Amino acid sequence: MEELCGLDEIASLPGLEEATPDVVGAVLEEAAKVAGEVLAPINQQGDVQGSVWSDGKVTTPDGWKDAYATFIAGGWNGAVNEPEWGGMGLPWLVNAAVQEMIHSANMAFALCPMLTQGAIEAITLNGSEELKQRFLPKMVSGEWTGTMNLTEPQAGSDLSAVRSRAERADGHYLISGQKIFITYGDHDLTDNIIHLVLARCPDAPPGVKGISLFVVPKFILDDNGAPGELNDVQCVSIEHKLGIHGSPTAVLSFGDKGGAVGYLVGEENRGLEYMFVMMNLERLVVGIQGLGISERAYQQAVSYARERVQGQPVGTKGERLPIIHHPNIRRKLLAMRAEIEAMRAVAFAAARASDLYDRHPDAAVQAFNKARLELLTPIVKGWCTERSVELTSIGVQVHGGMGYIEETGASQHFRDARITPIYEGTTAIQANDLVGRKIIRDKGQTVRALLDEMRGLESALASNRDDQASAAALSAALMAGIADASSVVDWLLDAAGRDQRLPLVAANYVLLLFGTLIGGHEMARAALAAGRRLAAGEGDPAFLTAKITTARYYAEHVMPRIAGFTRAIIDGSATVLALDTELL
Ligand SMILES: Cc1cc2nc3c(=O)[nH]c(=O)nc-3n(C[C@H](O)[C@H](O)[C@H](O)COP(=O)(O)OP(=O)(O)OC[C@H]3O[C@@H](n4cnc5c(N)ncnc54)[C@H](O)[C@@H]3O)c2cc1C
Repeated sequence: MEELCGLDEIASLPGLEEATPDVVGAVLEEAAKVAGEVLAPINQQGDVQGSVWSDGKVTTPDGWKDAYATFIAGGWNGAVNEPEWGGMGLPWLVNAAVQEMIHSANMAFALCPMLTQGAIEAITLNGSEELKQRFLPKMVSGEWTGTMNLTEPQAGSDLSAVRSRAERADGHYLISGQKIFITYGDHDLTDNIIHLVLARCPDAPPGVKGISLFVVPKFILDDNGAPGELNDVQCVSIEHKLGIHGSPTAVLSFGDKGGAVGYLVGEENRGLEYMFVMMNLERLVVGIQGLGISERAYQQAVSYARERVQGQPVGTKGERLPIIHHPNIRRKLLAMRAEIEAMRAVAFAAARASDLYDRHPDAAVQAFNKARLELLTPIVKGWCTERSVELTSIGVQVHGGMGYIEETGASQHFRDARITPIYEGTTAIQANDLVGRKIIRDKGQTVRALLDEMRGLESALASNRDDQASAAALSAALMAGIADASSVVDWLLDAAGRDQRLPLVAANYVLLLFGTLIGGHEMARAALAAGRRLAAGEGDPAFLTAKITTARYYAEHVMPRIAGFTRAIIDGSATVLALDTELL
């Protein structure tokens, strides 16, 4: 945060002055305690027991209620929210680290506050003063949770197909329809749940331009603002699924008895636009979820590898030793560690851009960071989550057979990770957004500015005297990666003019390429900073030396993937279209 994300600069932004390094350190220590001592211990129990539906009611696993009470008592639910509404007012940069810890500790649990945050965001940005006053204080404190109701059986990636209805009534709307896959759509943690629901008014235009956003509380508030009468919304069932068993994924039926009372957010027919503003932050957090679950898998793999004795590793004195001494296991652990560090650096860079966009007094700096955040969001979401599936799988592999059986918990991380590239927009949807809206639409301007910025590191690497060998490896990988990325941008702009399908064939590779490259750039910056601190005799030498080695590993083992993506994109995209769909 200090070296790569300019914590000082973030703490000088209006409203964030309290985020000094000391305060941030103390906040992270406290968050680590909640994550490590309250949330992590109930993670496996939550997986085994799962949330259970019975008679229209959902019961969360043992320990969930107490953990939730402790979590909100610490103020963590409103970590980034304005103090005006009872929040802590932390920068997003710091919140990114808090989110990583809580998702690492217990992803199924952390989804509940994550969705509440999304709902808070939607009301804060576009809700009327009355909606804010009625709902925000209790949602920020965590007394009530929030949900996001987008998906319907026929409307998944394509939300233009949403059919839920909203009839105008006296001072409110009556909502009806079925929503599926609603995370924490029902539970027993709080005495009210505030659903944010996409629906159409009767005379709305078809498609995305006819969707509105509504606040639909589970219990309608009485005159004192307390939960009163049960609204016309029922949890019909919850899903059985591969992972995140503790998180209830609900089917909700609205309006079986005539219509659920709902309140319009903002203006009619602008719901999807509002939802997208909020979804962008959720996408960042889901990317951080991928990071957190990978970190959890890594920590567990390292500790298992230190304990499990098997064979006599080559290069040792013929003793039976823990598997961490086998060169192959060392490589696996370093592979996990290096990519996780790169993912963290990119996710935090996006969080930094979010703070600068939100709060910087200079409009030009704001605009630059808006574009940067918009570019990085699909990358953080898509790349960190795709990699989490692979990295948690390596975690299973390090455990051998003990990883495949459930006892150690390694397989839970792998199963939990698998949802992350699917919800909040699948990787394909992120990749389409990246190539279409973020690269082709502005003719590559934003992405080229980023590539130029990265090129600027070459001279710093070349003049680095502290660790010549590492600097040379980092520089070679980075410059080759930038050159490849640049030719991919040229190709995308050209291919879009020839056949609009070509950039979409290439999209997933483009996303992985940019994640890998931006990660490599951050790792090179980290290595330089670590070298500087080592030379100055500052900081923890073990941490700094490890940083340089992971950066070098990343340059030598991970960055070469960029050349493969580039060849597949430029030489191979047309081949995908050559095979008729009938033949697939
Ligand atoms: C555990 C869980 C929790 C969830 N929580 C919520 C929630 O709280 N609220 C909510 O509203 N929804 C939630 N969802 C729904 C989730 O967001 C959707 O499942 C997701 O957006 C994908 O939609 P779909 O399942 O209909 O898949 P589809 O849209 O049918 O996609 C199927 C495949 O086609 C691909 N595809 C579709 N369109 C395109 C395209 N244009 N270009 C390229 N490829 C495409 C997809 O990438 C995917 O591989 C949740 C889902 C799950 C499983």
